[in-house]
Amino acid sequence: MSRLTGAGEQRGAEVIDEQGDTMPLPAVPPAPHPETADRVDGGRRVPPTFGPIVRKVALGVAVCLVAGAGYAGLRQIADAPADPGVPITAESPQTSTTPDEAAEGVRRASVGGAVLQKMSTAVEDESRSAFLATVDPQATEFRESARTIFANLGKLPIASFQFRYVSDDTAALTPDRQAALGGSESWLAQVEVSWQLSGYDAKPARETLPVTFVTRDGTTYAASFSERFVAGQRRPIWALGPIDVAEGDRSLVISLDSEANAESYVSATDRAVESVSKVWGRSWRQKAVVYLPAKQAQMEFVLGAQPNTYTQIAAVTMAELDTPQAGAPVRIVANPKLFDELGRQGRKIVLTHETTHVASTATASPVPLWLAEGFADYVAFTAVPVQDESAAKELFKAIRAGKVPTALPAPEAFAASSSELPQAYESAWLACRLIAEREGQSKLVKFYRAVHASKSPTGLADAFKSVLGMTEQEFVAEWQQYLKRLAGV
Ligand SMILES: [Zn+2]
Repeated sequence: MSRLTGAGEQRGAEVIDEQGDTMPLPAVPPAPHPETADRVDGGRRVPPTFGPIVRKVALGVAVCLVAGAGYAGLRQIADAPADPGVPITAESPQTSTTPDEAAEGVRRASVGGAVLQKMSTAVEDESRSAFLATVDPQATEFRESARTIFANLGKLPIASFQFRYVSDDTAALTPDRQAALGGSESWLAQVEVSWQLSGYDAKPARETLPVTFVTRDGTTYAASFSERFVAGQRRPIWALGPIDVAEGDRSLVISLDSEANAESYVSATDRAVESVSKVWGRSWRQKAVVYLPAKQAQMEFVLGAQPNTYTQIAAVTMAELDTPQAGAPVRIVANPKLFDELGRQGRKIVLTHETTHVASTATASPVPLWLAEGFADYVAFTAVPVQDESAAKELFKAIRAGKVPTALPAPEAFAASSSELPQAYESAWLACRLIAEREGQSKLVKFYRAVHASKSPTGLADAFKSVLGMTEQEFVAEWQQYLKRLAGV
C-alpha cells in the first residue's frame, strides 16, 4: 500500500514503547515513540536492545488512516454519490462491454438492490424474520452470520442503516463456486453499507461489502457478505462476530471480545473525554466511540489493513469513511493484546491522546503532524503526568549526544520507517508544552485552532505571527534552548 505523503494525509499509526508499566506512576513511561505511517505499514520497529524488564508496548494512533486507502477501486465506489434517487447501474467494466451485458448488469442491480432494500428495511424495522427472509436458506454458515449481524445491529443505537448496490462483477465467482451455490443464477456485487450511530455520528459511517447473490426458485437471496474481500477493504465491526456494547455518559464501547470488560473501558473513555475537554474546550461533541476487537486480525479487518500490520500498535484513531472529511465518524480502535498490556495508566494516556485527535477532528485537518501529535501528547501528559526523563528519553539522549533538532519534525519523521520516530514525538510534545508554558495553555489551543481553521498554505506561519507574535524560526530557536535546558546540556 502506498505511503501517504501529504501533511494533511499522512497521519497514520503511531506506536509507543512503553517501559516499566509495572512501575508506580507517574513513572509511566511512554514517551510516545510513535510513528505515523499510513495504515498499512504502521508497525514500528522496536529496537531489540530493550532490556528484559522493559515491556515494549506499542501505542497506535492513526489520525488519518483512511486517507489514501490503497484500494482505489473501493474509494471510487465510496466516492460515488450516495443519492438514493440516482438510478442504479452496473458499472463494472466486465459487465458493461456490450449493450446486452450492460442490460444484464442493470437487471442484476435491480434484483440485488431489491434484496438489499428489504434487508435495510428489516434492520430499521427491527424485524428479524424479514431480515432472515432475505438470506439464502441453503447458505448455512451465512445464515448464522446473518443472525449475529442482526443481533449486533439491535444492540447499537442505529440512527440510519442503508445498503446501496454499487457494482457487480460476473467474473468474481468461479464456475465451481457457482455450481456449489446452485440456483439459476449467482453473482457477486459490491455494496456500500452506510450506518449512523445516534448521538455519536454527524454523518454515516461507510464500508463496501462484497455481497454474493443467488437466485433459486425465482427468489433472489443474499448468500454471503464476505466473499473475496480485497486487501484494504474495511469491514464493519458488527459483521465480524457477536458484539457487546456498553455506553457511558460520553462514550460507546463496542467489543468483539467477550472476555473484555467493556464497562471498564466506558469509564476510562468518559474520563479521557473529560480530560480532553478541559484543555480543548467543550465546543465539540464530547463523545468517543471505541472498538475493542478480540483479535488483532479483527482490528486489521476494521482498518482494512494487511495482516500483521499492527503487531506493534496498541490503538488507532480512524475515520470510518474512505475519504477524509469534516464530520466523518471517528473511531478509536484498540489492538486487544497490546492495549491490554499497556496497563491502566498507559491505556489512560493512549485513550486521552486518541480522544484529542477525535476532538480536534485530526482525521480531516490541515495541521502539520508535529502539531497534531504534539498537541495530543500534551493533552495526554497533562491528564497523566509523566516524568520528562522517561517521556522524552530518546530525545534527551540525542541532545546529550549533541544532536539538537534543527527544525520542528517534518511529516516524514513520523513515518513508520523513520529512524528518529521517538524523537519526533517527544520533540513535538515539548514544542507544544513550550507554547503552553510560555503563553499559557489557552494560547496553545488558540494556536492549534488557528492552524486547523486556516485554509491558506501559510496558515502555520500566520498563526505563529498572529497568535504567538513570532516567526517559526524564532520559535525554533527558543525551543532548541528549551530542549537543551530540559536535557541538562
Ligand atoms: Zn496521535
